[in-house]
Amino acid sequence: MSFPFLNGNEALNARLARVLESGTLSHAYIVYGDSPEERRKHGNLLASAHVCSSAEGERPCSVCKDCRKALRGIHPDIKPVLREKDKRNYGIDIIREMAMDASVLPNEAAKKVYIIPEGDLLTAKCQNAALKILEEPPAYAAFIILAESPGAFLETFRSRCIELFLGADTTGKTSGSGFADAFLKAFATRDPLETVSAALRLEKCERVELISELGELREAFVKQLRSSPASGEAYIAAADLVSRLLEMADANVSAGSIAGMLSAGCNMLLK
Ligand SMILES: [Zn+2]
Repeated sequence: MSFPFLNGNEALNARLARVLESGTLSHAYIVYGDSPEERRKHGNLLASAHVCSSAEGERPCSVCKDCRKALRGIHPDIKPVLREKDKRNYGIDIIREMAMDASVLPNEAAKKVYIIPEGDLLTAKCQNAALKILEEPPAYAAFIILAESPGAFLETFRSRCIELFLGADTTGKTSGSGFADAFLKAFATRDPLETVSAALRLEKCERVELISELGELREAFVKQLRSSPASGEAYIAAADLVSRLLEMADANVSAGSIAGMLSAGCNMLLK
């Protein structure tokens, strides 16, 4: 399954496909990523999946009337929540209005989706004002918050949302720690001790960071596969392994266990 609006970025496609294929969308997501454009695309994709009226098959189907409106940005039940232009942050009234509006039934779709495009600009007051609606939303309401990083969010706010961390964006810019590159090098040596010590770096990661590192690692394996198809099998298997670990990280399996499974799994592949 792939999504035309993701420009063929495979890691992002795979990540969202897992969310959408699982069939049950959560009522609240925070989508993190470096690029506002990528965040926007993912937010719209999730919103389309919420309103899609296709009875069966993939959601979003991109052909039903709801998907078509969503793709054109004119679906009446997908509501951007914008801050007032002259303010640096979201005002608390905007969030209160959103919560009130969420108690009104959707117009056309089965769901009503609020997209907060500048989640980094939600003050602690705003987040506190949103807690109740995030915790006990009406069955038809969904919230998608786009943000550059988790830094601005209260733990209580984050804990009510599913966090999706977009890996490297389509410009190929590498962010962060260099973990993916270091692990790939260790993997290429085929020396089990090298792999174990490279994987250890994951042990101390917070969950969001862990998901980001695994996302980058998966993308690095896929890239490697493209540049040296001859030695492809191990890289395909490794990318699959990392996909499974990403699901575990999503399900809150500890960083220590995931680091262990990464090194053990890769060493099995190299035997
Ligand atoms: Zn549809």
